[in-house]
Amino acid sequence: MPIPKKRCKFCHAWFTPDARTAHQVCCDKPECRRQRKKAANINWRLKNPAYEKTRAGKKRAWAQSCGYWPSYRLTHTDYTARDNKRRCKSYKAQKISANQDARREIAVERLASTREVVANPSANQDAIARRVDIIAEYLSLCAPSANANGTDLGQAGGP
Ligand SMILES: [Zn+2]
Repeated sequence: MPIPKKRCKFCHAWFTPDARTAHQVCCDKPECRRQRKKAANINWRLKNPAYEKTRAGKKRAWAQSCGYWPSYRLTHTDYTARDNKRRCKSYKAQKISANQDARREIAVERLASTREVVANPSANQDAIARRVDIIAEYLSLCAPSANANGTDLGQAGGP
């Protein structure tokens, strides 16, 4: 019985499937076989999502045990340059984020300190001016674009 021809899933050319494989979907061209294997790998990884997580730990341990990355970085200078740029950029972003967090905490602490009740009524004017200054400073930290637009909030609360 002759085997019916099929269309290749990737190049759409007609081919005669091998008699031993019932579900052959691509022809025997190397490019089509490569594409089929790649699609099968993607499909397998989608069905087994835990594989990547467990494999990543094993790969990291292996690379550390044999000193893979230091030797790779020595032989691949272009990769090393790109990676150094990426690391520098990431470090700067973390530093900026940490600075913003610290400034925000300081501003919140100062704003909380304005809630203190002033015991001496004669010093009320100074205390109110100080509170307004602190609030203005806090607002300028929260909205730095307001200063860029020419609005100086620090001057608004002056005595
Ligand atoms: Zn093909």
